[in-house]
Amino acid sequence: MKHFRNFINGEFVATNKTFENRAPVDNRVIGLVHEAGQAEVDAAVAAARAALHGEWGRMTVARRVELLHAVADEIVRRFDDFLEAELADTGKPRSLASHIDIPRGAANFKIFADIVKNVPTESFEMATPDGGTAISYGLRSPLGVVAVVCPWNLPLLLMTWKVGPALACGNTVIVKPSEETPATATLLGEVMAHVGIPNGVYNVLHGFGPGSAGEYLTRHPGVSGITFTGETRTGEAIMAAAAKGVRPVSFELGGKNAGIVFADADFDKAVAGITRSAFENCGQVCLGTERVYVQRPIFDRFVQALKEKAEALRIGPSDEPGVGLGPLISAEHKAKVLSYYELARSEGATVVTGGGAPAMPTELADGHWVQPTIWTGLPESARVIREEIFGPCCHIAPFDTEEEAIALANATDYGLATTVWTQDLGTAHRMARAIDVGLCWVNSWFLRDLRTAFGGSKASGIGREGGVHSLEFYTELRNVMVKL
Ligand code: NAD
Repeated sequence: MKHFRNFINGEFVATNKTFENRAPVDNRVIGLVHEAGQAEVDAAVAAARAALHGEWGRMTVARRVELLHAVADEIVRRFDDFLEAELADTGKPRSLASHIDIPRGAANFKIFADIVKNVPTESFEMATPDGGTAISYGLRSPLGVVAVVCPWNLPLLLMTWKVGPALACGNTVIVKPSEETPATATLLGEVMAHVGIPNGVYNVLHGFGPGSAGEYLTRHPGVSGITFTGETRTGEAIMAAAAKGVRPVSFELGGKNAGIVFADADFDKAVAGITRSAFENCGQVCLGTERVYVQRPIFDRFVQALKEKAEALRIGPSDEPGVGLGPLISAEHKAKVLSYYELARSEGATVVTGGGAPAMPTELADGHWVQPTIWTGLPESARVIREEIFGPCCHIAPFDTEEEAIALANATDYGLATTVWTQDLGTAHRMARAIDVGLCWVNSWFLRDLRTAFGGSKASGIGREGGVHSLEFYTELRNVMVKL
């Protein structure tokens, strides 16, 4: 039985309160997680604050960059350890974690280290009232102790997406991984110690949200700012906690993203793209498509083609050859997704495919499996169309005009992402301007250049991270005026 301990000031710290970590594929207990209480949170904040002013705070940018490259290299060297840890926690297909989760986990350290090394700040020369000269320049100083609160769907990738830039900018961090996926954040503690990141710079606290490590950490007055990825409702609670002391937040939240397929799209590519965006990672991707709008001339053909793709997805554990769909993360999440499958029926949906849980072999029968599901026929007011489900499912509706597609895509409180399929350049660019989202993909989905901005509008987030935009949250820009 594995034990996942907290990582505080360079040491693994056990507590006498543990909770079970279960494998999504069969619900087996695979580890015990040591829950941090107020005392561990206090200790981590004290360690992180002390580290800000120690060796880490005095380190040259060049040395910091070197160390972060070493972290990335060590993740690559221990690729299999990270991969197995992520697979055990999430049950996702091996091909997915080995092509996306772990490589991106390493890349997040290199890319932000290089950005910090290469991005200049402003500098101006001006005349002073007494006829002299002054120069002023920008100086980026770290924000301080950053709390990093993470979800379970892409555990290493989303955590390092924040830890990478935070450390590159000279902050110290306290990570609160999801209670569902404690493994890779803990393993990263070993990597940090191994490459020589000073004690207290990277800390990990395990536990839940309310009444546990998440709440204690985000309320702690010693935390300078909070970066969070997760549900919009949780974001509201964290924002309330951050109000005390007016501490800044960076939020990447939920979505109810629209995929829009025009009749002139490359049909096969659009079907393949929407298959990915609706079902990848068992639909547990914030950027995923749960609302698909298809132009009427190709609607029936598209529904049929997506149905065939969904039914061809092989459901199974990480190592099954050709597997395309893993389990959902937990029994609780499975119950939530299945409740939406029921709701869709009661709201009057036509179930094109799926709609329930698949029959699985006995040894996997307790896993959190659900069928990929497609609906048609719901009114736009249906809860299934309005609320984020976060499962392998989508509703498909027809549209006639570009204006109608825009109105449908925007009729949501969320504004994270969209994927538009068309061969007309004009249509593509007009849609990118008109749809109120942080990320618009054209003839693609989940294609990312880490130097560019990432984030959501409306209820899908606050602020942007990625590239130089991360520096805006993770540093304070100071102005220095020097009269010559
Ligand atoms: P969640 O909000 O339930 O939990 C996320 C983290 O917050 C966990 O570590 C949890 O323990 C912690 N937490 C919960 N309540 C808290 C509180 N009151 N105070 C402090 N911490 C608290 O989200 P989840 O279920 O882990 O992840 C799924 C959600 O994340 C979906 O809504 C999805 O859209 C969203 N998401 C968004 C993005 C993005 O980039 N926009 C990326 C991935 C996931």
